[in-house]
Amino acid sequence: MIDLRLEIDPLPIVEPLVIRLTHEPSKCETEHDAVLVETNGTRLEYDYNGFSLVLRRRGDENFDGDVILALPGQRTAHRLIRSASPHNTFLVTEQCDQLCVMCSQPPKKYHTDLFSQFAVAASLAPINATIGISGGEPLLHKDRLFSMVEAVALARPDIKFHILSNGQHLIAEDVRRLATIGTERILWGIPLYAADGPNHDRIVGKEGAFHQLQRGLAILMKAGASVELRTVVMQQNKNQLVELADFVFTRLSAIEVWAIMQMERIGYGRMNWATSFQDSSTDFAQIAKAIDLSAARGIPVALYNFPLCSVPAPYREFALSTISDWKRKYLDICEKCGSRAACGGFFEWYSQKEGFAALGAI
Ligand code: SF4
Repeated sequence: MIDLRLEIDPLPIVEPLVIRLTHEPSKCETEHDAVLVETNGTRLEYDYNGFSLVLRRRGDENFDGDVILALPGQRTAHRLIRSASPHNTFLVTEQCDQLCVMCSQPPKKYHTDLFSQFAVAASLAPINATIGISGGEPLLHKDRLFSMVEAVALARPDIKFHILSNGQHLIAEDVRRLATIGTERILWGIPLYAADGPNHDRIVGKEGAFHQLQRGLAILMKAGASVELRTVVMQQNKNQLVELADFVFTRLSAIEVWAIMQMERIGYGRMNWATSFQDSSTDFAQIAKAIDLSAARGIPVALYNFPLCSVPAPYREFALSTISDWKRKYLDICEKCGSRAACGGFFEWYSQKEGFAALGAI
């Protein structure tokens, strides 16, 4: 696992500070750049506008081009952007108005507004980067979020966003703003767990969520937005996947992709693992039917977070490597597997004792 926190010597700051680390003075382009001036074992010293910034690294980590967030009085900095990785996500809030049974990031009551800092960080990202935005529910702070995206769009037209949202907070007036931001700039990852209100609402722990989600999806469609529909397969909804495939075809055929996903064993996902995890390595039938129906009807469909060998051979072409590099691991059985390069592996917190029953090198 890659640690997204870095040990630093505390800085004499009263406001959060965004800094880009650079190892070549010639790449120092903005007031936010700090240039490496000395390396002494694990201790790296940077010059930040005349001030000393000291980091301690583990192993031979390279931070060139990374963007960090330092908070007043703290001995760790958040590694917001790893320049060599395509998996960079800003957790913009931990507040949420749903309580999904498989939630990997259970909501918290309080919110710290760091949107201005996130805007700066995004503007320092490598060229053509796509930055993930997650929570909590980012659209609980919709105006701040849109303002951040607008600011980045102006400063860095090449940057794109992948925003995970429960789709509960969009209103008709948002259509124009979404269109102005540019529909190609954002891919919206929106979860839908069942084709009917009672089942979807039960899974997300919010009455009326399904109805509100349909309105949100309609607004995104009207704005011409790109939507990645996300369905985590669980014991609660595995028998409704075919019905959901019909729903997607009849109501949501303009989506970019329907992502059928495996659970992440952390947060509520860990708490509810025994009653929710669907072992698709031993029972793939409903997923196969949903894929067959969707593929035949021209709905792009993909499997996220499925180890390749947990998927029957005819369906492996749908299984994408989607687990972020910093939280991805492989098991002992993977060592001699010829498909490892194409396989997305497992979440760091996956436990084989409670996991897929039928795995094996392929
Ligand atoms: S054995 Fe191969 S296919 Fe299975 S999880 Fe490991 S790397 Fe992936």
